[in-house]
Amino acid sequence: MAKRKKNSLQGRIKAATRKLRELWLVGRALAFIGHPVMAQIVPMRYCNLSCGYCNEYDKTSKPVPLEEMFRRVDHLGKLGTSIITISGGEPLTHPELEEVIRRIRKTGAIAGMITNGYLLSKDRIESLNRAGLDHMQISIDNLEPDEVSMKSLKVLDRQLVALSEHALFHVNINSVVGAGFKDPNDALVIGRRAIELGFTSTIGIIHDGDGQLKPLGERESKVWFEMRNWKKKNYSKFNKFQEAIAQGRSNEWRCRAGSRYLYICENGLVHYCSQQRGWPGTPIAEYTKADVKREFLTAKSCAPNCTISCVHQISYIDHWRAPQTSTISPGGHMGEHHGPSEANLVNIL
Ligand code: SF4
Ligand code: SF4
Repeated sequence: MAKRKKNSLQGRIKAATRKLRELWLVGRALAFIGHPVMAQIVPMRYCNLSCGYCNEYDKTSKPVPLEEMFRRVDHLGKLGTSIITISGGEPLTHPELEEVIRRIRKTGAIAGMITNGYLLSKDRIESLNRAGLDHMQISIDNLEPDEVSMKSLKVLDRQLVALSEHALFHVNINSVVGAGFKDPNDALVIGRRAIELGFTSTIGIIHDGDGQLKPLGERESKVWFEMRNWKKKNYSKFNKFQEAIAQGRSNEWRCRAGSRYLYICENGLVHYCSQQRGWPGTPIAEYTKADVKREFLTAKSCAPNCTISCVHQISYIDHWRAPQTSTISPGGHMGEHHGPSEANLVNIL
């Protein structure tokens, strides 16, 4: 195998400065509550794949024009957003993705991206390096492609090897257990391959039907507990929120969506999260610090049965302070099936 670029002097300097920037942003998030910690932004609803479970994509949307993406990113910067993650659809199909990444970095935010990885090549990875990408997440669903998902280790291994050799950014591989996937042991193989290639690895839970809590079956639980017990430093810490989800129990927590976490769709509207689109539904250009403050103090009635781990992790920063003083019952998509799109996955490890 070729020498890994991330082990070069350039790679190590980049990793160290990224860590420092992250530490600074975490410190700022702990000290001040008036800004979003993470925003997920969609530059492209179109996807080159058609996963059987997903309703987060279409086959017709055009890319959001670059100038409009700049306006949205700049506004997130003005709100003081710490991390901006690009998702989709498939972001790599946006013809000016690298310019969007450059603009995110210009705001001072950490630049992340969630992709199915199909369009990655050595040249594209080098181009993402130059643009300043900090983090990439790829979800891999199974070992062999089937009628449910083409996001398979067999198809994507070539891209993973290219990433391990050329990427200067951090790479996380997410695998899944739960409904719709034939063999839960696939997740173990995918997780091991990720570690072997020098990436971090997480495991997500897919729930039946409508995104509500449902305990894992026996085989899925076995895999999940095995991965939970992997003590490698590459795995982030298991926590009680995720354990409750795996066992189908509800959680008591304060969701800070609309405040510390924002989801901006391709139409430029701010939503609580991918499962509660339409709330608050304000154009990002009109979103103010007053909105951020109001939502910080607004409890969401969907919180106890929520499975969205990334929002929980962001909200956990403030778990010790500011009890919420009003309640909203979003009537968005919680009752509809969103399938295991990357945004909905529950990160377990
Ligand atoms: S899950 Fe991801 S790769 Fe699959 S169709 Fe949806 S957006 Fe595309
Ligand atoms: S579904 Fe979860 S993340 Fe979304 S608003 Fe409700 S509690 Fe918050």
